[in-house]
Amino acid sequence: MNREPQKNTLSGQEGRTPAKIEIPCPVEEALGLLRRFGHEAYAVGGCVRDSLLGRVPKDWDLTTSARPEETRGIFLSRGYPVIETGIRHGTVTVLLDGMPIEITTYRVDGSYSDHRRPDQVRFTRSLQKDLSRRDFTVNAMAYSPKEGLVDWFGGWEDCQQGVLRCVGDPEQRFQEDALRVLRALRFSSSLGFELEPATAQAALRRKELLEGIARERICKEFTELLCGDGASSVLRRFYPVAGVFLPELLPMAGFEQHNPHHIYDVLEHTLHALEQVKGTAALRYAVLFHDSGKPLCFSRDEQGAGHFYGHASISAGIAREALTRLRLDSATIDRVALLVKYHDVLIPCSPKSVKRWLNRISEEAFRQLLQVKAADNLAQRPDLSCRVEELKELSSLADRIIQEGQCFCLKDLAVKGADLIQSGMLPGKELGDILRRLLDQVMEGTLPNEKEALLQAARSWRRKE
Ligand code: ATP
Ligand code: MG
Repeated sequence: MNREPQKNTLSGQEGRTPAKIEIPCPVEEALGLLRRFGHEAYAVGGCVRDSLLGRVPKDWDLTTSARPEETRGIFLSRGYPVIETGIRHGTVTVLLDGMPIEITTYRVDGSYSDHRRPDQVRFTRSLQKDLSRRDFTVNAMAYSPKEGLVDWFGGWEDCQQGVLRCVGDPEQRFQEDALRVLRALRFSSSLGFELEPATAQAALRRKELLEGIARERICKEFTELLCGDGASSVLRRFYPVAGVFLPELLPMAGFEQHNPHHIYDVLEHTLHALEQVKGTAALRYAVLFHDSGKPLCFSRDEQGAGHFYGHASISAGIAREALTRLRLDSATIDRVALLVKYHDVLIPCSPKSVKRWLNRISEEAFRQLLQVKAADNLAQRPDLSCRVEELKELSSLADRIIQEGQCFCLKDLAVKGADLIQSGMLPGKELGDILRRLLDQVMEGTLPNEKEALLQAARSWRRKE
């Protein structure tokens, strides 16, 4: 149900409305300054929403009746640095005590012919009009210390109910700017809010419009969605939306595994696995894609059980291709591909093998790999998740190796290239091979990580060759 703007709920009037939001000093200073010059000014959007929800706002945005040039002039006259972030769209950024604050002039958006950006924006003197162009009711509240909360669209009530609702008609709002479809899912995941029925229906119906949206913008919103606590339940319901820009996910839905280790189809298994790990984008993307290749390599054995030979490498390739298309940064893509590729390997539970893995993929990647493996394991049949103990053991082994400063990479080896050269060896490939071999033996435990012993071993190898 959409609600018409009816009331301006001011501070304290509703009884339930919080009387005061904690505003950082620089923000209060910026609001006060604009007002002293005769303009209206409010904190707006995410910072108001997050403050009401008891979360710490990422940043503080202000909305004002002052024109961009006026805002600029006011802050410059007081000696504050001003950056003209998007003066055409009415936004300037001012720096107060080192805090960047975005200040945007009250604005209404013109018509949208490309489902992306308004053809033109118009400045207005009406706060209500500015709030009505915003995407969701919970993002369309303004606050000033003087007037309290300005809430024309029931944003505070929706905050309390945990509901995400478009301002105005959802079909029309998604038509105007299709990114809002994905933003709805992103806020649902990060805030743990439910899309109200009309907004949910419109999101599913209008999903194809996302095809026209720049990949970078999609990537930013989808990564936030995926890193949110509610990612798994949002994707369970709205995976066809993600399928518009990540069609690789679609074959996972309903793909049965026919294997005693699994009780879920590939998508459901993946969503359960996502519930098991929090963390960085790399980790979440790795879990999302870890079995994406399964539908491509399904086979049955003579007993009829399903197998997916080679699926880890195929999934790694799928992840790399999909995330490159999405314009994710290359370091994250490399990490995701690595984690997916190795998610299924058996890592023997011994110091030797842990050192080899630490050497091969770095400590950070190894820890992430254990997390991916644990998530994968816990999302299989609950009674078969015994491997998790083994993974904990691997993690403790890594702890010990690191704590004790045991050697697993060339930079920790007690002998350097320069030492070998000093002892008469020539720089070049052979020297590199010898260092590598010394490291191997140190990791194996057949040589101590001590300079003399290592130099001696190197000399004896050369004599034999
Ligand atoms: P976050 O805390 O994640 O930054 P936010 O609500 O501040 O959340 P932003 O993307 O920073 O989100 O946008 C700031 C505000 O601008 C939003 O709260 C909303 O009022 C408005 N807004 C942003 N993008 C859109 C859009 N595509 N359509 C309509 N309004 C938007
Ligand atoms: Mg923001």
